Amino acid sequence: TTWRVSARDVAPKGRRRVLVVFEDMTAVEEAGQIRRDFVANLSHELRTPLTALLGFVETLRGPAKDDEAARARFLAIIAREAQRMAHLVDDLLSLSRVEADERRRPLEPVDLGALTSSVVATLEPLARQKEAHLQVEVPEAKVIVPGDPGQLRQVLTNLIENAMKYGGSGEDIEVSLTSPEFQPALRRSGVCLSVSDHGPGIAAHHIPRLTERFYRVDAHRSREVGGTGLGLAIVKHIVNRHRGRLRIESAVGHGSRFTVVLPVD
Ligand code: ADP
Repeated sequence: TTWRVSARDVAPKGRRRVLVVFEDMTAVEEAGQIRRDFVANLSHELRTPLTALLGFVETLRGPAKDDEAARARFLAIIAREAQRMAHLVDDLLSLSRVEADERRRPLEPVDLGALTSSVVATLEPLARQKEAHLQVEVPEAKVIVPGDPGQLRQVLTNLIENAMKYGGSGEDIEVSLTSPEFQPALRRSGVCLSVSDHGPGIAAHHIPRLTERFYRVDAHRSREVGGTGLGLAIVKHIVNRHRGRLRIESAVGHGSRFTVVLPVD
C-alpha cells in the first residue's frame, strides 16, 4: 500500500492543533503503472512494423532498385506490415470506444440466435480459405438478451477469428448458443454463447492472463496470423459492460472453449 501523508495547521488562535491526512494512493499508482505499461507495449507494437517498413523502403530505394523480383517481394512485405499497423489502430479504436461507452448507451433487446447465424455467415468465406469448418448450433426459439448488438457481434467475431487463427487447420469449430429457458440447469448462470476449437490448446498458467492487453502465448505465432494482442481484451471489456462473464477452458493437445455467459435480466 502506498500512502500520501500531509499535515495542516488547523489551530485556532493560541492553540496547537494539526490535522494529519493519510491518503491511500495504491489505486492511483496502479492506474499510472497500467497506463505506463500500455504506452510502452503500444510503442513496441508500432515500432516493430515501422522498423520493417523503413528498412524495406530504404532497400527499395538503394540496393534493390533495379531488381524486379526483389521489388515485388519487398512491396508485399511492406503491404503486410502496413496492414498489421492498420489492424492495430482499428483494435485500439475499438478498445477505447468500448471503454468510453461503458454504461453510457442503454442496452437494447438483441436476438442472439440471429446475431450468431449472421456473424457465422459473414466469417464463412474466411473459414473456407483457412479450411476450417464452422458448425453452428442455435435453439429454434428466439434467445433475447439486453445488449449492444454491434459489440456482441464483435465479441463473437473475435472468438471465432481466434479459433480460426489458433485452432489448427482443417478442424471443426463449434459455435453454440444455449439458453436457460431450454436447459433449466443453466437457470442461475444465464445465456451461454461458446466457441470451441480442436487446436493445440492453452497451458493453464496462461489462461488468467489472456485478456490482458498485448498478452500472447506465442508472440511470433500471433504476429504471423495477424494478431494484435488486443482481441480478448476487447472481448473482456464488452462482456463486463453486459454484466456477463468470460469462461476459458482449455486442454493442451485437445482444444479450447471460450464461453460468454450473459445475464437474462
Ligand atoms: P491476438 O490478437 O494475438 O490473437 P488475443 O487477445 O485475441 O490476441 O488473444 C491473446 C492470445 O491468446 C493469442 O495471442 C493466443 O496466443 C491465445 N489464444 C487466443 N485464442 C486462442 C485459441 N482459440 N486457441 C489457442 N490460443 C488462443
